[in-house]
Amino acid sequence: MTKTIRVRFAPSPTGYVHIGSLRTALYNYLFAKKNGGAHILRIEDTDQNRLVEGAVENLLETMDWAGITFDEGPRQGGEAGPYRQSDRLDIYKKYVQELIDKGHAYYCFATAEELDALREEQKAQGIAPRYDGRYRDYPMDKARERIAAGEAHVVRLRVPETGETEFNDVVRGVVTFRNELLDDQVLLKSDGFPTYHLANVVDDHLMGVTHVIRGEEWLPSTPKHVLLYRFFGWTAPVFAHLPLLLNPDRSKLSKRQGDVAVEDYRRKGYLPQALVNFVALLGWSPGDDRELFSIDELIETFTLDRVNKSGAVFDIDKLNWMNAHYLRNMPVEEQVAFLKPFMEAAGMDVSREDRVALMVRAMVPRIDKGEDVARYSALFRGDLPEISETEALDVLRMPDAAAVLKRFSALCREQAELTPENFKTLMKSIQKELGVKGPALWKPVRVAITSTTQGPDLPLVIEVLGREKVAAMVDHVRNTYCK
Ligand code: GLU
Repeated sequence: MTKTIRVRFAPSPTGYVHIGSLRTALYNYLFAKKNGGAHILRIEDTDQNRLVEGAVENLLETMDWAGITFDEGPRQGGEAGPYRQSDRLDIYKKYVQELIDKGHAYYCFATAEELDALREEQKAQGIAPRYDGRYRDYPMDKARERIAAGEAHVVRLRVPETGETEFNDVVRGVVTFRNELLDDQVLLKSDGFPTYHLANVVDDHLMGVTHVIRGEEWLPSTPKHVLLYRFFGWTAPVFAHLPLLLNPDRSKLSKRQGDVAVEDYRRKGYLPQALVNFVALLGWSPGDDRELFSIDELIETFTLDRVNKSGAVFDIDKLNWMNAHYLRNMPVEEQVAFLKPFMEAAGMDVSREDRVALMVRAMVPRIDKGEDVARYSALFRGDLPEISETEALDVLRMPDAAAVLKRFSALCREQAELTPENFKTLMKSIQKELGVKGPALWKPVRVAITSTTQGPDLPLVIEVLGREKVAAMVDHVRNTYCK
């Protein structure tokens, strides 16, 4: 019988959810769902210096938003809990003791100053800074005395001095590290908290984790984890290290070149289904050129053996395209519900449902994401247009532009109301009166109202703005920009 698959997302809650973490959580979720396994959320909060108030709540909220669910975790509990490492400190102490008793770990009393001095010395000699093993063979009875006297200490892993540590990674194949290059990793810190390495291995074992799917930045830590599994006499899980996320210039994805927090994308008005679809393809491909996947389709299609080795470039244009796709394909009521807060934030009048729906219909074909509605706030407020686009200015300098606009605003004012229907009739009568048709007729009107040759659908805009505003805008444009 095959073992039930159990995977975990194990974030250190440091304030915001990195886009790479979203990918890790997503791949774990997809893998669990695809294989009828369990998805566990474990909070790795043993680094007391990095704790941020509200970070766990924010993380849970972000996962909810993305539609990534867990079968076990701090919220729902489960048999392998507790799921916060800070609630498991006694467990780690017990296992550290086991390693010490077996001789695989030892006490170290080197102070921070001592270690700083060592690092400086090594730097001066041009060698890579690392712990020099000065307490590896320190007599146990003396160590116990110093501990009994209250001296600060850590516990370190006794990494073999020779040989190699090897493991098989689903993504990268066989990975080998020379033991002499591995540091004697601190397992238990002087504050009594475990380091990530110890807690991670102990928990993955106790929680029955079968597959560790995580970012490539953890690859160099894995040989230490493999040694720990060996020293405890446990079977290591299957490892799958996901490729790095890269900026378009192939440097590591960084804040400097764009947003890295999921919250930033959410705030800017990306849809969760678009961000999830986009992130799924950062480092995984379905094997054909299909790009649009709902989360259920991802579950159906996802396999670890199609995760790529090479770094995945974060292409914001593609994300924008995807978001626009999802936005355009939503029912109008959902578009309205989604865009309304962005419209409000951009200072648009959202007090009337019918108007909001018209504005949404006008904007949706021309925006990629929520915050893009701000581009149209001046237009829908009916502000007097300021035109800077060269092509638009050229249109207003066409021979008949002034005459068309003059007649247009006059006819506008004669209407009781301006509707998409009488707007068309009105344009027809100008055509007849002035003998101007096609682009010479339509373009000046379009530019005068929307300030651009590429503006949103005119009848919709006109219906939103009403007769008075449209006439005032057109007059202003004619007086300011036409010859
Ligand atoms: N706590 C680690 C992190 O923040 C987890 C790494 C792992 O999955 O082992 O990413």
